Amino acid sequence: MHMIIYRELEDYIYEYCQQFQTQNELIAQRTLMYTSNGLSEAMLSSMRRNGWISDEPVILDMIADGPHELKRRVVERIWREHKDVLPLNLCPKCNLIARTPLARQCRFCKHSWHAGEAS
Ligand SMILES: [Zn+2]
Repeated sequence: MHMIIYRELEDYIYEYCQQFQTQNELIAQRTLMYTSNGLSEAMLSSMRRNGWISDEPVILDMIADGPHELKRRVVERIWREHKDVLPLNLCPKCNLIARTPLARQCRFCKHSWHAGEAS
């Protein structure tokens, strides 16, 4: 399958293919989210103790360039390693990615389809 990663595909993979993310990628994502949410230091250190977020150098490196870079790198890696097995909900007509795994209408060409009719 020859395909370029466009923004909607990137969003989809990041959101709906999390089973392909490594533990560190998930922790990095959560760390970025919670540390930029204005939570108290007490809350954050309790999350660190639980391993939910982390301030280890490897994680800090991953998030150093911000959320967009983290996302781009994670999706690129998943694509490189798993692109043949990703559960992508592609439009049967234009072959672009649907908005969600259950969407049955294409946001690009407006084609609609029914479950099981196409794959
Ligand atoms: Zn379409």
